[in-house]
Amino acid sequence: MSSTSPVSRQPSCADDRDPDALSVTEARARILGAISPVTLTERLAIRQCLDRVLAEPVTSAINVPGNTNSAMDGYAINGADLAVDGSATLHLAGQAFAGHPFAGNVDRGQCIRIMTGAPMPPGTDTVVMQEHSAADGNRISFTPGQRSGQNVRQAGEDVARGQVVLDAGRRVTAADLGLLASLGNAELAVYRRPRVAFFSTGDELRSIGQPLAEGEIYDSNRYSLYGMLTRLGVEIRDLGVVPDDPTALEAALSQAAADCDVVITTGGVSVGEADFIKGLLDRIGEMQLWKIAMKPGRPLTFGRIGNAAYFGLPGNPVAVMVTFYQFVQPALRRLAGETVTEPLVVNAVCDEALRKRPGRSEYLRGQLSVAPDGQLHVSRTGSQGSGILTSMSRANCFIVLPDECGGVAVGGAVQVQPFAGLI
Ligand code: AMP
Ligand code: MG
Repeated sequence: MSSTSPVSRQPSCADDRDPDALSVTEARARILGAISPVTLTERLAIRQCLDRVLAEPVTSAINVPGNTNSAMDGYAINGADLAVDGSATLHLAGQAFAGHPFAGNVDRGQCIRIMTGAPMPPGTDTVVMQEHSAADGNRISFTPGQRSGQNVRQAGEDVARGQVVLDAGRRVTAADLGLLASLGNAELAVYRRPRVAFFSTGDELRSIGQPLAEGEIYDSNRYSLYGMLTRLGVEIRDLGVVPDDPTALEAALSQAAADCDVVITTGGVSVGEADFIKGLLDRIGEMQLWKIAMKPGRPLTFGRIGNAAYFGLPGNPVAVMVTFYQFVQPALRRLAGETVTEPLVVNAVCDEALRKRPGRSEYLRGQLSVAPDGQLHVSRTGSQGSGILTSMSRANCFIVLPDECGGVAVGGAVQVQPFAGLI
């Protein structure tokens, strides 16, 4: 796959254009195009299906609700018994509770005491709220203003028999579990979980629990990756820290690719001296794209090693998270069988001026809130260096400045990706 854009542009000192870099949209489309969903499925009890992806559409075998029933506590009546002003006085002939229907038929002039959820007795079609009634022995009068057919839930009004209630490719939510239970479904077919292996690269990295020598740092990328991958419900293999050594890297990549669908590494993909990953990939796999016109995250490698897709993310901790959310997360969703939609983007008022040169997309870490004027406002979460993880930790959104944007004035409109939409 070529990584050059069909339109060649000349770089100039007035912008940050790199003619060899792909736009974020183009890179995302190419990555998604190179990923095929898993095919294996399994049948699981519905509680085990939370956050899993449906492999088949779910069709209802029953009407929900199964019976036409009362939406209120009150009295079931025949709407034809209402006077022109919507009042009536009727004879109490029995009662109906949820789970204990009224057995007989209701004649004209009669009413039945009814509770919410109880099936409407035959001969009734209307419920009058308790609060609109007065009892005198068995004679029940209803205040004017009642309407025929009111306060009744129709059989099949939520779900009709034979209706497709959930499509294949949907990630099952808590609401879906309730919906599935209301249909009486015990089991569902879901796709198997993708398997994802990851490791960090860098001679300077130490794992937590080890002492730090001069110039060494703790490996944080494996922890943020663990969090993001766990949220996506994939099976993870954490292969630890691999030093900047070609033999060790090749062994780790080959091992990871042998039994996983996706391999993710961080670090070692820029043009620095210790950046072996690109060379290795040319030997043991195939590189499909490398440079993306974005900040942070420009040196992102995507390719294939054997049957596994490979993401070589940058080493900087913020760049790891930005590129994960823009590229890896949609790819893993597609791999998991999910129907991938574009990330949710909303407009917000930017409370500070943002400097930027055209030519690449920027993903700033922002704090989005509703201001007293009722509008969404956003501002940056402090210093935006791609190694400053606190900027990510304090953020609840990305401020997305598109390629062509040349800066934003105070009070200007910006596009924002709330993290809620990113899981
Ligand atoms: P690299 O892409 O390997 O040149 O790394 C870029 C920067 O990110 C360097 O400052 C690295 O020390 C830092 N870095 C790389 N990997 C990690 C990691 N796993 N955890 C924290 N920082 C890292
Ligand atoms: Mg490195």
